[in-house]
Amino acid sequence: MAYELAPLPYDYAALEPFIDAETMKIHHDRHHQAYVNNLNAALANHPELAAKPIDDLVRDLASVPDAIKGPVRNNGGGHSNHSLFWSIMGPVGTAGVGAAPTGDIAAQIEKDFGSFEALQKAFNEAGVKQFGSGWAWLIFVDGKLTVTSTPNQDSPLTAGHYPILGNDVWEHAYYLKYQNLRPKYLENWWNVVNWNEVNKRFATAKG
Ligand code: MN
Repeated sequence: MAYELAPLPYDYAALEPFIDAETMKIHHDRHHQAYVNNLNAALANHPELAAKPIDDLVRDLASVPDAIKGPVRNNGGGHSNHSLFWSIMGPVGTAGVGAAPTGDIAAQIEKDFGSFEALQKAFNEAGVKQFGSGWAWLIFVDGKLTVTSTPNQDSPLTAGHYPILGNDVWEHAYYLKYQNLRPKYLENWWNVVNWNEVNKRFATAKG
């Protein structure tokens, strides 16, 4: 069973003006599709691996044969990371999107960072400092929210951490609108975070 790209769960223009429609279309339809296609090609002779849910494949990267581990790490990570990414954003102006965190995650942010602004600062710094391509993440480790980052398409899942929130800082995620201004993209991105979905992920992370 080959992996498949799910449709974007909202219109390409739904994140305007913070993320433009053209970026969303190219990012989802071409970049994410390429990760899926390349992952399927890498697993063509490994149906038992291709049958795993994508997050399990990425979590159990150690079980992937060395000959295909590189492409599976990059493209499996790409498929997992982008599937998360689309889901933790939502249409501007809908309930629970943008503004400030809600629910349990809001309380936990307050507890672990002191304020939402302090989390944003730490998270944006992690994104800015990630040299080249990669991701900024919010994970839950030993009962505490922690900001981290990974290079390329590496997933926190491979290190045993369930990502609650992640932002793509590859240039393809922002270059059409923001060019070299990654800090501005990181700052504006909070306007499209879907806190309902983030709360669901936080509940899963707590177990
Ligand atoms: Mn991307």
